[in-house]
Amino acid sequence: MPRKPFTGFSSVAIHSGHEQDANYSHLTPIYASSTYVFDDAEQGMRRFNGEEKGYIYSRWGNPTMTEAEEKISALETFGVTDKNGEPLKVKTILHASGMAALSTLMLGNLKAGDKILTHFSLYGGMQELLEKVLPGLGIETIIVDLRDLDKAEKEIKNDKKIKMLYLETPANPTIQCVDIEELTKLGKQHNLIVAVDNTFATPYLQQPFKYGVDYVFHSTTKFLNGHGTAIGGALSGTHIEHMETRMTKVHRLLGGNSNPFDAFLLVQGMKTLEVRMERHCNNAVEVANFLEQHPEIKRVNYLGLASHSDHHTSLKQMRHPGPMLSFELKGGLEAGKNFIDKLQMCVRAVSLGTCDTLLSHPASMTHYGVPKEKREQYGITDGLIRMSVGIENIADILSDLEQSLQPAKSSNKKFIKSTL
Ligand SMILES: *Cc1c(COP(=O)(O)O)cnc(C)c1O
Repeated sequence: MPRKPFTGFSSVAIHSGHEQDANYSHLTPIYASSTYVFDDAEQGMRRFNGEEKGYIYSRWGNPTMTEAEEKISALETFGVTDKNGEPLKVKTILHASGMAALSTLMLGNLKAGDKILTHFSLYGGMQELLEKVLPGLGIETIIVDLRDLDKAEKEIKNDKKIKMLYLETPANPTIQCVDIEELTKLGKQHNLIVAVDNTFATPYLQQPFKYGVDYVFHSTTKFLNGHGTAIGGALSGTHIEHMETRMTKVHRLLGGNSNPFDAFLLVQGMKTLEVRMERHCNNAVEVANFLEQHPEIKRVNYLGLASHSDHHTSLKQMRHPGPMLSFELKGGLEAGKNFIDKLQMCVRAVSLGTCDTLLSHPASMTHYGVPKEKREQYGITDGLIRMSVGIENIADILSDLEQSLQPAKSSNKKFIKSTL
């Protein structure tokens, strides 16, 4: 009997993608097997030519990885319908990392002579892929502020070589947003492929497929896994046949496959996505309010604050302003380093989306190698701190921030402390 569709996000997150295990194991086991057995040569042939469904080799697919893929497809399309009002279908391919999934996206769709239109403040690895790898293959990138729709349209009309519109929203580290609906409309008028990096928002807060985009990408390393236990990436696409042929081929041949252990961790992590996101988000609001009225803070970039330039765009396309924010300390570089060094519970680390609150100081860490002038153009100032608000108890997060925000103590105070 076909199962009734689930009415809630967590039910989908917990149950979708799960298949009854041959040994009735409750959880899909970690299928640590590189290859799969054929009953006879005929069956091998049927599997290879696609007549019979079944696993062949784990670079191509593996039951633990399939469960993760199906879950992501279900979450990204939960409640989303296609042009005919039918539930939207997408296919997801799991990768070894977010960057591997992005490589498949680019190399599966673009060729020498094609161009990508995107905006600044992208994830650092993506920025470098566009600047340092793709140009060698003849694929160029145009960067404009896509929050200005007229500019975007002019750019698309002026350059017939643009084949893909690539959006990351919200984006690193100033938490900027671009309008997925308007940009997708524009892209589709000009036959562009539209891809969205949904890593910061997760499907719980934002579902780009609602607006007719072709691809949704995730670094599953972040909120989807949620516990910082594995690197991974997922690429979901609406053109099922293209996903099953060209994209599957590119994925298999570039070799950026995931593995059953990481997929297992991802599957368990995704089951709690809704409850984790609710807590991440509620904590983030409290942190933003606390920081905004703090005397040592110059500016807070949080989508929930009316002072954020993209507040209205986020209201339109996101369920909640989210768990990510950044803020600028009045004292610049020294204040930034001093603050980061004093943290006691919150974790000094790059990455995001773990249960633990993570803070990083772009000027001394992720963007250390970027010339000051260039990073300041993108709003990455010396005193900017990026924060992925965790799910600890809010009182502990706030008290750690409060004690770390105290201006640097005199050496006298240090002496008193060390003699206690
Ligand atoms: C981390 C991240 C990536 C890259 O993913 P990896 O899993 O590190 O390869 C891409 N986009 C965003 C927004 C990210 O945060």
